[in-house]
Order: sequence, then structure tokens, then C-alpha cells
Amino acid sequence: MQRFVYVQTFGCQMNAYDTERILQVLEPLSYTPTDDPAQADLILLNSCTVRDRAEQKLMSYLGTFAPLKQHNPDLLIGVGGCVAQQEGEALLKKAKYLDLVFGPDNIPSLPALIDRVRSEGQRLSETVLHKKKDGYEFVAGKPLEDGKPVANVTVMKGCNKNCAFCIVPQVRGRELSKPADDVVAEVTRFVESGVREILLLGQNVNSYGHDRSDGVLFPQLLDRVAAVPGLDRLRFTTSHPWDCTDELIDRFATLEPLCEYFHLPVQSGSDRVLERMRRGYTAAEYIERADRIRAVVPGIYFSTDIIVGFPGETEADFEETLSLIDRVKYDFLFGFTYSPRPGTKAAQYEDDVPEPEKARRLQVVFELADRQRRARLATLQDQVVEVLVEGPSRASTALKPQMMGRTRTNVIVNFPVGSMALGQLRWVGQMAQVKVTRVSPHSVTGEVVQIEETTRPRPFLAGLGVSTAA
Ligand code: SAH
Repeated sequence: MQRFVYVQTFGCQMNAYDTERILQVLEPLSYTPTDDPAQADLILLNSCTVRDRAEQKLMSYLGTFAPLKQHNPDLLIGVGGCVAQQEGEALLKKAKYLDLVFGPDNIPSLPALIDRVRSEGQRLSETVLHKKKDGYEFVAGKPLEDGKPVANVTVMKGCNKNCAFCIVPQVRGRELSKPADDVVAEVTRFVESGVREILLLGQNVNSYGHDRSDGVLFPQLLDRVAAVPGLDRLRFTTSHPWDCTDELIDRFATLEPLCEYFHLPVQSGSDRVLERMRRGYTAAEYIERADRIRAVVPGIYFSTDIIVGFPGETEADFEETLSLIDRVKYDFLFGFTYSPRPGTKAAQYEDDVPEPEKARRLQVVFELADRQRRARLATLQDQVVEVLVEGPSRASTALKPQMMGRTRTNVIVNFPVGSMALGQLRWVGQMAQVKVTRVSPHSVTGEVVQIEETTRPRPFLAGLGVSTAA
């Protein structure tokens, strides 16, 4: 019997990766993914709790799915991810129509859980966080037939930092690194299936390997992954400034696939706030790291995360954040207003910056970041950039079909095509030389001047219905 599963993903790339694993473990149960919740026999929400708003969004989504149960009595609704981990059973009490709650470490048990819910008619919650140093088994990622030439590979789970604002260590546990041989094997499988760009994922990837004794730390892991034949591009996220060693930075000079893009969250430019956040570095130390990265990789694109309105953040502290942004200059910036998360250190502090003031500060940060990003993107006007073609652009319409891809520096490049005919879809996974004709606030648009004629295997195109035979 064919059944359909609808999965909605919230939050970070770790969750997106977990969603792939969820679909993977459900495959033997003959669940076909669908984009239409009304068609589904199983609705799963992979939730995020990093900020208050993410959690509210989950609850309102859940509410909209409840009525579907009246039309389909067999429908099961489940919540996975970080809210599930945080709330467990309590979530079953809050949402009466919810059948199943499972934590990020319980994805492998999902088929058995679903089976029990169906056969016993019971509502279940399994949120056992793996706490031991060993014995954890990562679900090995498997190439999807989604036609994408880019893939994520998780290299570790959890986080050992104790940033005062952050709930991640609570819901994802301590750091556990995937053995390097497994990472390399996974990357190799992806590349053999046609993937050309890999993003290595972890909450704090650059502390990779400190929980293991095989001597492979993050720089050595990069060496091994970069050596996989056929891998053109390699990225990683997220890094903590504290673990951003010279040894790591120097890899940008020596490893050809390592792309010229670095995301290094700073959170604040005030030493007083950084200390209360327990970030473990000063603004000057962070700036020294950024300067070093730029010295090793001139022209690198650089991005960060900023929190405004952390408890006790004064106007003077905030000004220091602005001057740090002004000094470092970011090409992309992700900014957030602080929200207290249950069980964190900062939740004990008085949340004393009024919401409208937090919103104002965020607005000021965004305006500054906007100016910096626009200035940087403007330098691309009339330049020819190399783009790995990922597929149809989000801006694509029937009248104006467009494809998209990214530069090594992570800039989104859209380019019109005559039609979405199969000929153009064959470009997916190819390197295109694109001349930039227009610069938009967040991306650029251009014309293809040359497309690579590769003979490399691209079996994933079968998923798009495109024959790869020449
Ligand atoms: N280890 C990751 C954390 C991912 S959370 C990292 O260092 O990037 C992504 C971003 O969310 C954080 O960098 C931070 O800027 C923001 N964030 C985390 N907790 C928050 C909170 N309680 N309130 C507001 N923003 C928060």
C-alpha cells in the first residue's frame, strides 16, 4: 500500500539534514514524500527551539494540521527536532491531536514508533538524548535523487560550549564526532552520485575530533575530505571563534576545493556583553581572527550572526557592536533579537531591553549590513563569475524561466534561460560562466557566457527525468 508523508522542516541546516534522515528511515515503510499535507497519512514537523519565535511558529502550524484528521482518521501527526527534545511528553498534553514526539537522537526508532502508535493506538514520546561518550550511531547520509549537485554531510552532533543564551547543548547534547572514515565514505558516495559541492555540518564543526583519540581534528578532516576525487567545492558551518585556529585558517591557502566563504558568529562587539554571554573571546581577539582569515584568503566573503538586546546590553554596548561590524565588514549578516530560552543561564537574567528597543537595534544593524552587502555585490557588476548550477531559481516563472547557482563565495546568481526544457535542465550540476548584468540587494542576475561540457557521471539527473546519455 502506498502511503504519503509530509515533512515540514524548521530551523537550521542540522534540521534540514535530519529531515533527509527521517525520509531515509521511512523508505522501507513505503512512505512517499508529498508536498501536500492534505494527501499525507503521516505529517511530521521537524521543529526548532533556538529562538522563541521558532517555537511559536511550530505551535501555530500544528494547529492548522489538526482539522485534517477529521477527513483522514488514519492520519498520524508527529513532532521531531529540538522542541520535541525539550518538551517531550508535555507536547502530547499541549496538543491533543498529536500522536508522536521524537527527539533528534531517536530518528532511527521512528519506524518502530510509528508501528506502535498504529498498532497499539497509543500516543508516544521518545526523546532519549544520547549522553555517553561512545555508542552513538550516526545515520549515514545517502544520496537523494533530488537532482541537486550540493549535499550536506553532518560530521558531529551536539555542542560543548556553554553560551549563556543558547539552548542547543540542552537539546542536542554533548559533542560527538562522526569517525573520519565514515565522513569520507559518505562524501565519496555523494560525489560518485554526481554531487560536486559538500557542506560539512555541525553546531561547532571546528571543535571536531576533540572527543576522539585518533588524532583527526577538523583541519585533518578537511584534508581528507578535500582529497576525495571529483569534489570541486567544500564548505563547513558553523564555526566558533574560540576554536578558529591558525591551522584551520591556513587550510584555505592549501586546499583547492575549500571555498572562499567563512561564517564566524560574533554575537556582540562589546566585551562586557561577550563575557556575560560566555563566548570566551574579546572583540579584539575576534577582529584578529577575521584579519588573519582575510590575510590568508584575500577577497574571501565573510558572514556572521549578531544578537541584539541581550540582558544588560546598554546603548554603549550596542554602539560597540556597530563599530565591530563597521570594522570587520560583512558580506552577509544574520541578526536576531534576544529571546530567553528555558533552562539557559541567561534565562535567569532580567530580560531588560524592551522589545521595541530590541527591534530598533536590529533594524540599525540590518541597515549597516545592507550597505556593506550592497557595496560588495556591486563590485560584481559586469564581471564573469563561475557558478555551480543548482536548478530552477526561486524567482523562476513560466514566462521568465530562470536557473540559479552559487559562486564559491556563496553569492546567489540567477540567470534567465530560454525555457525550462530538458536541454537547460542538463545544465544542473555544470559549472557556468555567468556575466553579471544586474545587482540586487541579496543576489545578482546575469547571462551565461559559457557552460562547461562535462563528461562526469551525473546519475542524479535521472531524478529530474533527464537522460544523461549524450
Ligand atoms: N552553534 C551555532 C548556533 C546556532 S544558533 C553557531 O554558533 O552559529 C544560530 C544563531 O542563533 C546563533 O549564532 C545566535 O546568533 C542566534 N541565537 C541563539 N540563541 C539565541 C537566543 N536565545 N536569542 C536570540 N538569538 C539566538
